[in-house]
This record gives sequence, structure tokens and C-alpha cells, in this order.
Amino acid sequence: MTQPALTTLSEDERLFCDSVYEFADREIRPLSRDMDERGRIPQALIDKLFAFGVMGIEIPEELGGGGAAFFHSVLAVEALSRVDPSIGVMVDVQNTLVINALQCWGSNLLRQTYLPKLAKGIVGAYALSEASSGSDAFALTTHATQRGDNWMLSGRKLWITNAVEAGVFIVFATVDPAAGYHGITAFMVDRGTPGLSIGKKEDKLGIRASSTCEVMFDNCRVPNKNVLGDVGKGYKVAIETLNEGRIGIGAQMVGLAQGALDHTIAYIKERKQFGQQISEFQAVQHQVARAATDLEAARLLVYNAARLRDAGQPFLTEAAMCKLFASEVAERVTSLAINLFGGYGFVKDYPVEKLYRDAKIGQIYEGTSNLQLQTIAKRVIG
Ligand SMILES: Cc1cc2nc3c(=O)[nH]c(=O)nc-3n(C[C@H](O)[C@H](O)[C@H](O)COP(=O)(O)OP(=O)(O)OC[C@H]3O[C@@H](n4cnc5c(N)ncnc54)[C@H](O)[C@@H]3O)c2cc1C
Repeated sequence: MTQPALTTLSEDERLFCDSVYEFADREIRPLSRDMDERGRIPQALIDKLFAFGVMGIEIPEELGGGGAAFFHSVLAVEALSRVDPSIGVMVDVQNTLVINALQCWGSNLLRQTYLPKLAKGIVGAYALSEASSGSDAFALTTHATQRGDNWMLSGRKLWITNAVEAGVFIVFATVDPAAGYHGITAFMVDRGTPGLSIGKKEDKLGIRASSTCEVMFDNCRVPNKNVLGDVGKGYKVAIETLNEGRIGIGAQMVGLAQGALDHTIAYIKERKQFGQQISEFQAVQHQVARAATDLEAARLLVYNAARLRDAGQPFLTEAAMCKLFASEVAERVTSLAINLFGGYGFVKDYPVEKLYRDAKIGQIYEGTSNLQLQTIAKRVIG
């Protein structure tokens, strides 16, 4: 049997991907600039994302979700990010981190409690980073102390995506600082829990509509049954879900770069200088050809990592490579887009300056590029 190309989508994948892009084009594109300026996502749009089904892609159908594969989540993040990477990351965190962690590590009770809510209207957030533990994530200091049937959580999390909108947080805390990473434990924490509060919202360079906030815990009481995975095994929950999350960020960067390239190709066919379309200059054609080649390579890396994951094969290095490369491609392609728009690329009336700003985050969150290089080097050098 001949093996299909990585980018050959099954009919189901193609229909899904096209429908998500059509949704994004119709419902998100008209709002994108305003969301960037205001730094928020309207609740009405979030409601539409739920109604459309992209907030619970892999949740089993019997629990109200789409019952689809991880690859579908990756396709959705790509298609949404082609229009607006802030919506891309909201959907990415929901599916590839929060739902994924629950599906892989949640007890039957946690899965039955939270997955239907996440499918239907509750946004999730993933709270690992702290002010002094970013790349060195397991140096976190948020701690949990057991009292009877509950854990009491205290500490501060920083940079938490979806914090404004979230109804539930996956929170990583240590139950025993002396045990190092073996003390780290993941908890499901509901928004309304006394002691949980949302702090400062960051004023960011890019993905401005996506909320990023500090989240504080002050003797926040979390029932024992809300431990996600085993006590002391939170580091495994974090490592494994972030490996998958990284593929989602790769997809966000591919979608974003595709969006910038779409705008650029339309523009260079319109814009005339020296009496001809700028798309007719060979120098410009070669720049666009190089960008398209970069983009194809990034997409192949992302799809390969996602398909390996769905096939149950190892994908750690491939996930690191896809995020590393796709985020660099996104920066290069959006920078070229601005160059080819000329002065118009530098102003907010055209969409490419926003995509350029949005691209930068791909090299930072879910592990910086240096950390991805470290993962890759470990595999190839040993
Ligand atoms: C917009 C945004 C959204 C985010 N969303 C979330 C979220 O939802 N949940 C969450 O938990 N976190 C989130 N984060 C946090 C993000 O994952 C961290 O910012 C990231 O992991 C980097 O950590 P840091 O900022 O502390 O940088 P640092 O770890 O201090 O890194 C600073 C620099 O040092 C380099 N460096 C560090 N260690 C090494 C090393 N060993 N070798 C070589 N270089 C090294 C890094 O590559 C980087 O260039 C978000 C961040 C942002 C900006």
C-alpha cells in the first residue's frame, strides 16, 4: 500500500479544516483588529467557538465533544491562526493542554465532571509558570498542604493564558519542596474557589486579544479528588502535555505564516511600481518562493509530529523541532510580508504588522527556542 503524503488530508480532515477556516474568515476576521486594539476576546465570539465545536475537539462524543483526533486539534489551531493567532492560542490551550491532560491523566470522576463542561462552555487554563520559574519550570514554589479531604494551595502563577475567560485551571504545585520535581502535583481548580484570584493582565507586544494574567492562590481549598494524575507525578503531566502542546504552537505559527503569505500574495498582485505589478519582479518572486518553501517545511514538521503522536509513536524530538522551526519561519515570513507591503506594511490599516507582532511569542511560550534546541541536541548528540 502506498503511504499518503503527510500533507494529504483524509476527506474528514479536509472538510474539518476547510470548515474551521470558513468559520474563522466569517466570524473572526471582521473582529480581529478591534480585538487586538482592545486586548480582549468578546464573550459572544467565545460562545460561537463552543457552538462550532472547536473547544472540545478530542472530547468523546458521549461527553459532548467532537470525538476527533489530536491531528484535528492541530488543523483547527492552524486554520484559526491563519486569521487570528490569539484565537488560535485560546483553542490550543483548551484542546492540546487542558483537555489533553484531563483525557490522559484524569480519574474517571474528573473526566466525567470536567470534560462535558469544557466541551460546552467552560474555558480552561494551564498554570505552570511563576515569576522565578519559567524555563526551569519545576523550580516552582506554589505549594499544596493536605488538610483532611482537601489540599490548601498557596502561591502565585504568572503568564497564564486564558486566565480572564477561564472557568477552570490546571495548577501545578509542590506538595514537598524537599522532594524536588517528585513533589510536583497537578490540581483541577475551579474559578470560583475561595482564595483564587486573577491579578494583573499583561499588556503585550502580540497576541494581544489573548489574555495573559497573574493568578494567585491564598489557602485555596481543593478537594483530594481534584488531583490530576497521582500526587508527586505532576511533573509527568506537565512534561507530557507540553510535548503535545508544542505541536499546537507549531500549528499556530504555520497558520500565522500562511495568513501573512496569503495577504502578501494578494497585495503584490495589486500593487504597481515602475508600471508593473510588483509580483512580476523576479526578486520579489524569489522571496515569496523561499517563504512558501519555508512554510511547507514547517507544515511537514508539524503534521509529522502530530501524526506520530496519534499513531502512538515517540514524538518528543519532532515536537521540539516543529515548534523551533515553525516559530522561526513565522518570524521570517511575517517580516518579509511587511517588507513587501512597503510603508503600508508598517501601519495598522493592513493586517501584516499585527501578524509580525503575533509571531514573536512562538519562540517563547511552551519552552523557549533554546530549550527546544536542548531537547533536540540531547537526542542527536546524546
Ligand atoms: C504571552 C505568554 C503566554 C504564556 N502562557 C502561559 C501559560 O498559559 N501557562 C504557563 O504556565 N506559562 C505561560 N507562559 C510562560 C512561558 O512558558 C515562559 O515565559 C517561558 O517558558 C519562558 O520562561 P521565562 O519567561 O521565565 O524565561 P526564562 O526561563 O527566564 O528565560 C530567559 C532566557 O534565558 C534562556 N534560558 C533559560 N534557561 C536556559 C538554558 N538552560 N539554556 C539556554 N538558555 C536558557 C531562555 O531561552 C530565554 O532566552 C506564557 C508566556 C507568555 C509571554
